[in-house]
This record gives sequence, C-alpha cells and structure tokens, in this order.
Amino acid sequence: MAVGRAKRLRTFDFSMNDILPTKLQKDSGLIRIQWSDGHESVLPYKNLRNACPCAGCKEEAQKPLNPFRILKTNELAPLEVSRLDPVGRYAYRITWADGHDTGIFRLDYLRSLCQCGSCQPGKPG
Ligand SMILES: [Zn+2]
Ligand SMILES: [Zn+2]
Repeated sequence: MAVGRAKRLRTFDFSMNDILPTKLQKDSGLIRIQWSDGHESVLPYKNLRNACPCAGCKEEAQKPLNPFRILKTNELAPLEVSRLDPVGRYAYRITWADGHDTGIFRLDYLRSLCQCGSCQPGKPG
C-alpha cells in the first residue's frame, strides 16, 4: 500500500530515474545536453535565464513591467553561462557570467525547456 508522501510528485512522460545527461556542452549562446536516451536538448541561454526557478527571478517575472525602469547591468551584459554544477543527482546549478547563481534546474525541468525541433513544435500529447 502506498504510504502518503509529503510532497506531491509531478508526473512526467518519462522516468527521470532512467534518463540522465551523458554530455553537457556549451555552444554559442546555448547549452546542449546529450541524454542517456539518445535525445539531444538545445537550451538557449535566454530561455534558461527566463526560466530560472530561483525565488528572485520568479518574483521579478511577476512584477508588472515598469515602463520607466532602467536596465540593470545584468541586462546590458551578454548572457553567458560560466558554470554548470551538479546538485545532487537530479539537478544542476547554473552560474551566469553576471554572478547570478541561485537557479537550481532539475533535470526534468531542463528537459522540459528543450527547444529542439522535436520538443517544440506541437508537443505530442
Ligand atoms: Zn534566478
Ligand atoms: Zn528536445
């Protein structure tokens, strides 16, 4: 019998227990991830940064756009990933060249952000 879990688990159309990155590669303006199931994910920096799951970025995203705001220095600098560090077995911390490093991306989340041809236009299902 299933014992109630403290956290509700999201379900995905694949099991992250079986699918792990086999190769991470920085390309111009994007990260490529080779997965153990043979899929190659394309993750443009811009998408990753916009999808940053840290509290600060989420808060920022919820604020209404201020037409009078000034650009922050990190918006003026070109987006660049400087580090990608594993956190536990199922997540990566992305450190950006502007010093932002509070975003922890779970593998299933990274995979869901994939911008490759087969993931993006008309997702199955
Ligand atoms: Zn963030
Ligand atoms: Zn894909």
